[in-house]
Amino acid sequence: MASQKELVAKLVMVDPGLPRPNPTQSYWQHVPHTLANTQSASLPTDRDFAVIGSGITGLSVAKTLLERHPSATVTILEARTLCSGATGRNGGQMAPNAGEEYMHLAETHGSEMAGNIAKFTFRNLEKMQELIKEYDAIETSEMQLLKKLRVFLTDDAFNDFKKSIERLKAEHPSLGELYTILDRESVLKDHGIHGASGGALVPAGTVWPYRLVTKVFAALMKKYPDRLTIETNTPVESVEYSESFATPVTSVFPYVIQTSRGPLRAGNVVYCTNGHTGHLLPKLRGCVHPFKGTMTVQDPDATVPNRGASTSWGFHYPERYDPKTEICGYGLYYLGQNVKSGYFYFGGEEARMDETISADDSFVGDYSVTHLQSVLPQFFGKTAAAPWKLVSSWSGIMGFSSDGLPLVGRLPLSLTGRKGTGEWIAAAFNGYGMANCLMSGEALALTILGEDVSDWLPEAYGLGEKRLRGTLTPPEAVKALTAKL
Ligand SMILES: Cc1cc2nc3c(=O)[nH]c(=O)nc-3n(C[C@H](O)[C@H](O)[C@H](O)COP(=O)(O)OP(=O)(O)OC[C@H]3O[C@@H](n4cnc5c(N)ncnc54)[C@H](O)[C@@H]3O)c2cc1C
Repeated sequence: MASQKELVAKLVMVDPGLPRPNPTQSYWQHVPHTLANTQSASLPTDRDFAVIGSGITGLSVAKTLLERHPSATVTILEARTLCSGATGRNGGQMAPNAGEEYMHLAETHGSEMAGNIAKFTFRNLEKMQELIKEYDAIETSEMQLLKKLRVFLTDDAFNDFKKSIERLKAEHPSLGELYTILDRESVLKDHGIHGASGGALVPAGTVWPYRLVTKVFAALMKKYPDRLTIETNTPVESVEYSESFATPVTSVFPYVIQTSRGPLRAGNVVYCTNGHTGHLLPKLRGCVHPFKGTMTVQDPDATVPNRGASTSWGFHYPERYDPKTEICGYGLYYLGQNVKSGYFYFGGEEARMDETISADDSFVGDYSVTHLQSVLPQFFGKTAAAPWKLVSSWSGIMGFSSDGLPLVGRLPLSLTGRKGTGEWIAAAFNGYGMANCLMSGEALALTILGEDVSDWLPEAYGLGEKRLRGTLTPPEAVKALTAKL
């Protein structure tokens, strides 16, 4: 275990580098959007806001700044194609994790804050639906509103979950009531899932995030042609602060953002860089680290019904480590079914630690894919010996924080190492971006514009001194990653 901890301590501190130029092909992106490679003829400069990252968080920040400020200019800087990070390569689950997390959150932050966090995630999921409707994207994004069946594969995991829900029900009844607990017979008989100790249903959804995000970006480009530019294939190599650019009379652009296409000056820099954050902000390495996930698309045999309009699934098991193979199982598989094709979109992390605590999505581990192929049929009572057809597989990089909470707010000098008060961050959604990113981006943009969001953005997401000295530290990341192994 000592060497395991040493390895993790080393891995979380590694520079994640720039997003790899040759990522695996995500099935969600197999028809690229017309804006996939969009960029201006020459890189603009003197922008009020430079937003780094074109995932759903960057989208939300840009959208809010454009809508809520009458004249602000915004440039999105994206290392690869539009929406080519985690948002364009995830599991498509619009699901809360409040129920499973509540006990831990309440013990760590108190019941009130734990309730605020849970409320925020449920509200964020509603906001996702509102965005999809506002941009007429129900069909394009193939949104389904359904129940997520959380399946617990061991008695311990199920009992822990039930205790967490009981506490949630007692302390925040309106949230606790959203969960319906199911016993093992019901999971098998009513839902056709084998091997469960028990389960629960919770309102959720599925979506095609790449199509949603690119559609909204396209609408923003049309609406704000003079104020928004999107610069894809433009990796940001470094950020500097230079007082000589600051002029007190007109707008000030004290930040010099070095990109592969030359420098861009900006008044504010907003990092929506997810698992790659530590490259541009080295002082955050270890506090935020990349975590590589694997996704597959599998075509089930004809006897398996298509439940994609009514159900999505999550399968929980105790985290495990096999010293012989050095393979870690991280405790969760997630599954959705496409209503039109019947394909299963199935993901989960079962790989060596040096493969998972990694920012390299240019390959997908053979073992991870084989494992996902052998596990999935068994949940439906089929044999692992006859895996279903693999339609597609890819990897993607999540951003994890040492305390499991997103980072949303102004970056203090202690993290940037630079003068200036115009650097901001919304990152590290710990695998639950669809339940957090949209409102985190909105909250950050409103904060930048001087609005008070403290009554709905959980204070625990902020970058206060207490968090920076306490839970947002590299040793805490090592603790979190090795505690249950
Ligand atoms: C395999 C997988 C499965 C997942 N499944 C789910 C799920 O089912 N449900 C769910 O809620 N969440 C899921 N997630 C998590 C979710 O996708 C993320 O939390 C969310 O998409 C994060 O959005 P983002 O905009 O913050 O980051 P991203 O979408 O990763 O966007 C960050 C962008 O920043 C760019 N970038 C980074 N550094 C630089 C730089 N230096 N210069 C220029 N550009 C840069 C990247 O290229 C990237 O496009 C999953 C993630 C993965 C990887």
